[in-house]
Amino acid sequence: MFGVLAVQGAVTPHLKILEKVNVPFTTVRTSEELASTSRLIIPGGESTTMLKILRQSGLWQSLMEYKNPIWGICAGAILLSKEVTHPEQPSLGFIETKAIRNAYGSQRESFTATIDSKFKLPPVDFIRAPKLSPLSKNVEVLGTLNEEPVLMKQGRIMISSFHIELCGDPTLHLYFNEI
Ligand code: GLN
Repeated sequence: MFGVLAVQGAVTPHLKILEKVNVPFTTVRTSEELASTSRLIIPGGESTTMLKILRQSGLWQSLMEYKNPIWGICAGAILLSKEVTHPEQPSLGFIETKAIRNAYGSQRESFTATIDSKFKLPPVDFIRAPKLSPLSKNVEVLGTLNEEPVLMKQGRIMISSFHIELCGDPTLHLYFNEI
């Protein structure tokens, strides 16, 4: 079962894509719901708010023990990265990357761009996006924008600094479903 963490942020667009491609899914708000999933999306939103809710609810501990694939988008990528700056913030640290929060600018400076990738993706949205950089050779870069990594994978963990779900394209959901 495909899970979408649903404590805050852009949850619904993911559910619509999963529905469209006929992948069974559930929203995740509790440790019990998390336990029923075999892979998880942590959507974009506000990582500080998510962190607060996750820690208060006990879900943080369950996520720390989660062994299945996770795809973190924007705020989700921040929560998964080993190092977080601007400002520093606790994280799960499941992928050897550094996340510089809001490095692509403020809400007003949000933009849509076509990334360079082996995946043929439509233009995607960068919304208060972090700059993500690998801290290890074990991190595989799967997409770049102006030669900066924006889509990466290390083992079971995938992160993207952009929102793909807002354009409704299922390519990355289908790829992640095979990890
Ligand atoms: N800037 C946000 C954060 O630090 C992330 C923005 C997003 O997920 N679109 O959590």
